[in-house]
Amino acid sequence: MKFGTKCLHAGIKPDPSTGAIMTPIFQTSTYVQSSPGVHKGYEYARTQNPTRSVLEANIAALENGKFGLAFASGLAAIDAIVKLLEPGDEVISANDLYGGTYRIFTKVFEKYGIKFHFRDFSDPNSIEELINNNTKLIWLETPTNPMMNIIDIKKVAEISRKRKLLLAVDNTFATPFLQTPLDLGADIVMHSVTKYLAGHSDVVMGAIVVNDPQLKEQLAFLQNSCGAVPGPQDCFLVLRGIKTLHLRMGRHCKNGEIVANYLRNHHAVEKVFWPGFEDHPNHIVAREQMSNYGGMISFTLKEDDIKKVFGILEKFKVFSLAESLGGVESLVGHPASMTHASIPKSEREKVGLKDSLIRLSVGIEDADDLIADLDQAFG
Ligand SMILES: *Cc1c(COP(=O)(O)O)cnc(C)c1O
Repeated sequence: MKFGTKCLHAGIKPDPSTGAIMTPIFQTSTYVQSSPGVHKGYEYARTQNPTRSVLEANIAALENGKFGLAFASGLAAIDAIVKLLEPGDEVISANDLYGGTYRIFTKVFEKYGIKFHFRDFSDPNSIEELINNNTKLIWLETPTNPMMNIIDIKKVAEISRKRKLLLAVDNTFATPFLQTPLDLGADIVMHSVTKYLAGHSDVVMGAIVVNDPQLKEQLAFLQNSCGAVPGPQDCFLVLRGIKTLHLRMGRHCKNGEIVANYLRNHHAVEKVFWPGFEDHPNHIVAREQMSNYGGMISFTLKEDDIKKVFGILEKFKVFSLAESLGGVESLVGHPASMTHASIPKSEREKVGLKDSLIRLSVGIEDADDLIADLDQAFG
């Protein structure tokens, strides 16, 4: 099955009891048993829910993986992955990553004796010198947020395999439409489903996809034991959202390219970070591991007076000033004060995240209206 067909059909069958074409919302907390322990595979809705099971199978298929697990949020999914580890274990993470991921690593899990190292992964060989006998997990996002660097998943996976570590890739920005990390050697793919997979800025959810049955069992144990599961209504909304993932992504990519080129030629703009540019430092890796370049774009202004930067941010009319990304509507954000405020300024500056950096999640509106909005905001 090709990608678009999978979006609509993978894991989805008409409901056997009624023939309903759409997966029903099984709004129930428990399931009847005909005799103690005799049931139809469903006992209690924290453990299993049929609406959730269909969504989990659908997301797994999109990632070319065997097993999917849905969580109450992207961070709940990250929480489960780190809980695979024991006190004393070490994690090597790319240093350019979602602020909330940095926060749960350093402010929550360090307390429980897990050690995190942050490193620039643009040269994957630099990871090796941090590996020791306690290292268990390598963590990365690509494209990175918000600097839009590209990390070579295949190269990192080679190192991880050789040293028998787990490699987890946060695939939120790319989505399986653009890249499938399991095919490139990753062990775990994680999503903030909240973003492109749900796609309509109306749900908070997370997901994990793996191929290894043992890893799946461990994660399902954590999903059930810790209990951060999504409700059936949200699973239904995400199933509906995913039916147009391929169409939305096609338009996000097209609009992204138009907006990136417009910004690059604008006199107020200092630098545009978008992996589709041939002179982007990791463009060749992007071209190999991604099928297109997406609608996430960051740029710095020549103006670095924070008041003036805020003045521009306040003027947007079609783009909404908001956290988050990946919805059908265009959003503009200011990472230093919003999504990445939980990362200290000194750490932000190490990865080039200046106070004048603006991040766009280019939506699926008509591109002319997006350009006109940028024009008036800069004006
Ligand atoms: C939003 C986001 C998360 C966190 O997901 P939530 O659904 O908000 O908990 C993790 N990683 C990336 C790249 C994100 O954009």
